[in-house]
Formats: sequence, C-alpha cells, structure tokens
Amino acid sequence: MLLVNEYMSTKTDVVIIGGGPAGLAAGIYTSRLGLETILIEKTALGGQVAVSPFIENYPGFTMISGAELSKRFIEHAELMGVEFRVPEEVIKLELSSETKIVKTNKDTYEADAVIIASGASRKKLNVPGEKEFAGKGVSYCAVCDGSFFRGKVVAVVGGGNTAVSEALHLTGLVKKLYVIHRRDDFRAEIALKQRLLDSPNVTQLWNTVVERIEGDTTVRRLVLRDLKNNKQYEIEVDGVFIAIGYTPNSKIAADAGVAVDKEGYIIVDKRQETNIKGVYAAGDVTGGIMQIGVAVGEGIVAAMSAFEHVTGGWYAKKKKLKAVRIDFEKFKEKEEHEKREEEKSLFKFKL
Ligand code: NDP
Repeated sequence: MLLVNEYMSTKTDVVIIGGGPAGLAAGIYTSRLGLETILIEKTALGGQVAVSPFIENYPGFTMISGAELSKRFIEHAELMGVEFRVPEEVIKLELSSETKIVKTNKDTYEADAVIIASGASRKKLNVPGEKEFAGKGVSYCAVCDGSFFRGKVVAVVGGGNTAVSEALHLTGLVKKLYVIHRRDDFRAEIALKQRLLDSPNVTQLWNTVVERIEGDTTVRRLVLRDLKNNKQYEIEVDGVFIAIGYTPNSKIAADAGVAVDKEGYIIVDKRQETNIKGVYAAGDVTGGIMQIGVAVGEGIVAAMSAFEHVTGGWYAKKKKLKAVRIDFEKFKEKEEHEKREEEKSLFKFKL
C-alpha cells in the first residue's frame, strides 16, 4: 500500500516553486492562458515583499505597504485560478525527462514545465552570538519584529536598500537607532539614504563591523571594531537587525542539474529558460537587479515561455486549453467580508 502511495502523483501543466512576486506573476499568466498551474510555497505567500515596510517605486503606486501589494498579487493569482500549496516544501526535483517531477514533503507532482521562483534568503553575519540570540534580539525583519523594540535602543547592520528601508521603519518606533556599516557611505539609493541621514534619532557608525553579539536571556550589547583605528569598543543595545544582502535559494535546483553561477544564482537566457528545456527561473533566484518590478517582469517572461513550451505556441496547440472563468462576485464578497472584519478589529482597538 505504501509503495503505491509512493508512486501516486498529481499531474498538472505547470508547477511554480515560490510564492513571491515572480512566482505569483508567473501564475497569473500561465493560469489565465489556460494552463493548469500549481504554485508551491514553503512558508507564506507574498515573499520578502510582504515584509517590506513600504514600497515607493512599483509603477502605479506612489506609496504602498509590502503587505498590501503582496495581498493584491495573491488575490489576483487566486482569481485567475492558480492552485496554491502552502505551506509545502520542495525537497527534490527530477528535471531531465520531458515530464518534470517535483517532490515535496507532502506530494509528488508531474508537470510539463517548471518555473523556479524560489527567491533568496537573508545572509548571515556569521559572528559569535548571532545564532544564539536569533529570535532573542537578533532579527532579520524589521516589519515582523520592530514593534517588540518600541522605545528601545537597536542597531541595523548593512548599507544597502534593505538596511536603510528597515532603519527608516525602525526610526519611528525606537528611542535610538545605530546604523552600522563597514564603509563610509551607503550603497542604498539617494532618496532612502537622505531620509535616513535626516532622521533625528539615528547615529551612523561608519567603517565599523560587528565582532560579537552579547547578552544574557536577550541581546544586551554589540562588540564592534572601528576599522579606521582598529579599536574595539561596545555599544549597549536591546536588539540588532541584520540586513547585509541575500543568498539565492537554488540548491535543490542545482542538485537537479540546473546551471548556476559562482554565487549560486540560476543562469537563464532571454526567455528565462535555464540550461534544461522546460525549466524556467525568475526573480531574485536569478540574481541581477532585485526589484519587485523586475521579478514580476521575469515571472511573466517565464510564464509566456512555459506556455509556448507546453502548448507548442499559440497556433500549434498540443493541449486543449481551459478558459479561465473569473468569479468576480465571489471576489467582491470576500473583499467586503474582509473590510467588515477590519472595521470590527479597528473598533475593538479604539475601545
Ligand atoms: P545589497 O547587496 O544591496 O547590500 C548589502 C549591504 O550589506 C552592503 O552595504 C554591504 O556592504 C553590506 N554587507 C555585505 N556583507 C557584509 C558583511 N559580511 N558584513 C557587513 N556588511 C556587509 O543587499 P540589500 O539586501 O540591501 O539589497 C538587495 C537587493 O534588493 C538590491 O538590489 C536592492 O536594490 C534591492 N532592494 C530594493 C528595495 C527598494 O527598491 N526599495 C528595498 C530593499 C532591497 P558594502 O556596501 O560595503 O558592500
């Protein structure tokens, strides 16, 4: 009986791995084009965008929270008929045959095309205390954990767009904020940089690295080194947010023969196709410019390429496609229900 189960699998046209902007955009397209689409996400839909404090450069939105933008992406994909498998983790890929096999901790899928949009994860600082105090004052997400540090003293490590965005989110919450950067200028965009430099409760520690994170039950201090004079010193903090870049989530794909570059980013051509026919990659896992708009664009290209691969193109259709019927009424009802629930919780909060 167990053996039979082991070989039972779910058949679909396309499997998308990852539920961030690239995966959701790809799903909106493949599903709307008539391909049966299953999207597998390990944690929660939305990806890193969902925890971005604010977004000011996604065309069409002068300012939108990451949570709101990802909610719209998810609803759009759902409306187009994408089937979500969340939380579910891909553990193995077999990609060499025409039929691609995607094994997860819950199921096995057979698909004609696979789109890998598994994103990238936050880099670790790799200093003593980082692992020990993870979740006890060491955090990688200001939106998720910032409110625990209201009125306290915290530090952000890094000098890119992520570090500066996270620092800007924290300035409104904390009493004092240190921004620790190993050079004497931020890499972040000038608009973000200027706003941070103008914030009153921020102290920049340039040319400085963290050597140790210390504390008792929670983080109490950072041991730093000033790279200019090579002196070690300490600052007292209640928490530290580490934002020093990303590493691609490409190991499972690489193990299955997908070509990656020396940093582990998946190599794709102009059609977002990898070295394996029928296997595409999009978004942060391919490296390059990591922006929501870019991830969305790559997801769309991957979806259109996967569509051509699965159907043989618009005219030479190998498959009988199913037209998407959008249930706008159901969607409207859901929106109204959510609005009522939100109003109820706001009312509770006011009381
Ligand atoms: P980045 O790679 O852009 O920046 C990483 C920062 O961390 C750099 O300042 C780097 O220093 C520093 N750093 C790296 N390793 C270490 C280390 N071991 N110790 C100390 N410091 C270190 O990563 P981000 O996460 O900031 O951004 C990733 C991508 O996402 C970028 O393309 C960015 O533009 C994009 N993004 C865009 C946003 C937006 O548009 N609003 C928001 C957030 C991210 P150094 O400068 O010296 O190399």
